[in-house]
Amino acid sequence: MSSTTQPDREQASFAETALRLGGKSEEEARRTGTLDRADELVEKLFAPQYQTANSPVHKAVWDGKAPLDLFTPPRLPESAPCDAAMQKSLDVVRRHREAGTLFDDQRKISNTVLHDLAEAGYWGMLIDPQYGGQGAPFARFSRFLTRIATFDPTVAGLASVHGCIGAVDPVRTFGTPEQKARLLPKLASGQSLSGFALTEPCAGSDLTALRTTATLDGDHYEVNGEKLFITNAVPGRTIGLVVVLDGKPAVLIADLPPEENEQFHLRRYGLYALKHTHNNGLVFNRFRVPRENLLRPPVGDGLTIAYHGLNLGRLALCATAAGSMRVMLANMLPWVEFRRTYGQPIATRELVKRRIARLAALIAGADALVAWGSKLIDLGYRGELECIVAKIFGSEAQKEAAIELFMKTHGGRSFLHGHLFGDNVHEFLAPCIYEGEGEVLGLAFFKSLVKEHGKAFFEPIGKAVQREGIKDFNPANPRHAWALRKELAAYSRWWAGQRFGGYQKQQVSGMDARLADHLAFAQELLGSFPLEISGVLRKHQLKLADRQCRMAELSQRVQDAIILVVTALWGHEQRDPVAVAAADLLCQDLRRKVTGQRPTDRYFRDAAALADMIIGGGFQSLAGVPHQEILMKYENR
Ligand SMILES: Cc1cc2nc3c(=O)[nH]c(=O)nc-3n(C[C@H](O)[C@H](O)[C@H](O)COP(=O)(O)OP(=O)(O)OC[C@H]3O[C@@H](n4cnc5c(N)ncnc54)[C@H](O)[C@@H]3O)c2cc1C
Repeated sequence: MSSTTQPDREQASFAETALRLGGKSEEEARRTGTLDRADELVEKLFAPQYQTANSPVHKAVWDGKAPLDLFTPPRLPESAPCDAAMQKSLDVVRRHREAGTLFDDQRKISNTVLHDLAEAGYWGMLIDPQYGGQGAPFARFSRFLTRIATFDPTVAGLASVHGCIGAVDPVRTFGTPEQKARLLPKLASGQSLSGFALTEPCAGSDLTALRTTATLDGDHYEVNGEKLFITNAVPGRTIGLVVVLDGKPAVLIADLPPEENEQFHLRRYGLYALKHTHNNGLVFNRFRVPRENLLRPPVGDGLTIAYHGLNLGRLALCATAAGSMRVMLANMLPWVEFRRTYGQPIATRELVKRRIARLAALIAGADALVAWGSKLIDLGYRGELECIVAKIFGSEAQKEAAIELFMKTHGGRSFLHGHLFGDNVHEFLAPCIYEGEGEVLGLAFFKSLVKEHGKAFFEPIGKAVQREGIKDFNPANPRHAWALRKELAAYSRWWAGQRFGGYQKQQVSGMDARLADHLAFAQELLGSFPLEISGVLRKHQLKLADRQCRMAELSQRVQDAIILVVTALWGHEQRDPVAVAAADLLCQDLRRKVTGQRPTDRYFRDAAALADMIIGGGFQSLAGVPHQEILMKYENR
């Protein structure tokens, strides 16, 4: 992509400026700046009150008070026009699952299932009714995905690939009226099923390394290059194709031809994950896309479009994980009652009860984050920080659930062909990587969270240091302090306000005492972050970019504080003793993680009591969730 020009330099982001001043290579600073500018332009798509600096997470950390109203998702209305299509879609998946006809000969979701889902209105869930879709609010869509995932997570995943990261979100958000009228009806009816082609062999985490190019040739763009790991990409599908056009990323909506040809062919490989759908490399050689299929965002470029869809995809991923974890728990319950060791069902053992309770707690956390994040999207928020929290939590929770809770409880049978764990282990792990690897996303979370503070106080100091020609800045050095007195005074005023101002803690009336205590703890913790984060910026100054582990650690603690708030408030809204106990347990786990304390006996008792309620059939989240037959059953004597 293009090299830095003077105007670019003038608009350089905080991180880009810091990297340059900190002595990083021009190349690294420029690439970071490219991504930051794309990110800032996404912000401009939203009204100021919905931008990251006014998001619930940002406010809760920096404003001295958590906006609790923005952390409490309202109950969804009893019904909505999209419900009928959702019910039909659920029936389709249930019916095919029960009949054993979900997959074709290659064990991929069959064309019949895709077609039946199209008839049910599945592919148009997020598309406006004027284009033939169901117009589902995101909060309803994500809750629906969790239910679909209890029958089949791949079918749920495909709705997200098509509707969030695929062609639907780019066209409905960035398309011209003509493009919407031409493309959305086909995407809504399922005539066009879509995916999103961003990753390349040389560009995954680093999106500035894209090499696939498009050049205008008459009324078409000619595309050359290669994409890797593209889900739902086979001949005949439609893709949002990210290319470099005139030195900048751009998105073309491209119909892949019905057969491979000289201009387009697949690169096939064996992939353990997503085994029930197609995932391929795509090779383009003078591949032609009509000129009118270029999306032109009002601000920014192709990455602006990609970031918008990825946000929704991250919430959808957490919703799907919430469904998959329900399936794990539903499969654990019959097994723990059947399996006896030393004359007793393992359901009576404390270790096993703790696993059941922890799994319920993870489900509660995922449900809470999905409900919260989706509400914010429906309200019009960008939701960047909130969607990252949900993505990391959902994927890590699913990984832990699969390995620490589900596999261990099923023992050797976990590894039998036909066992849910053995058959799906890669499915359970892959979400940690796609739509952004968790730790790299955690760094992005930190960067977004500190951006405003950095711009307000540290960037002026950095620029003044450069202006004054100071080599090793030391505020204790009287000459340095005098030269930067204006910048340092502004920072000192902020620091004193934080140090002596305190965090305004709030209570929620009628809240369960345990949840209220967690909420108070979380607010205390949130109140400690501004000085700690600022201290880290001060300590590492321009070398902060190299302190990834510190940023990742701090990022995770902020995320944990946010999850505490969201889960405690969600638990309060449920008014169901099992959901409250599950929310309480997750909050206890998060508090211990943050403080490093060992679990108390009360914690173990709470976990066992929660597990007993679940074993007794009290967990409403498991209603209607199917489970498999126990493998290698024997006569229990
Ligand atoms: C099952 C599956 C489905 C997918 N579907 C799609 C799809 O539909 N469309 C699409 O476009 N892509 C898709 N992807 C690609 C996916 O989004 C990428 O794999 C992911 O973004 C990571 O990129 P990468 O694999 O190139 O990792 P790399 O860029 O090779 O990075 C490897 C690891 O190195 C570390 N790392 C990288 N950079 C840094 C850094 N700056 N600092 C610290 N650590 C770093 C991180 O731990 C990272 O995970 C899919 C991937 C999988 C596995």
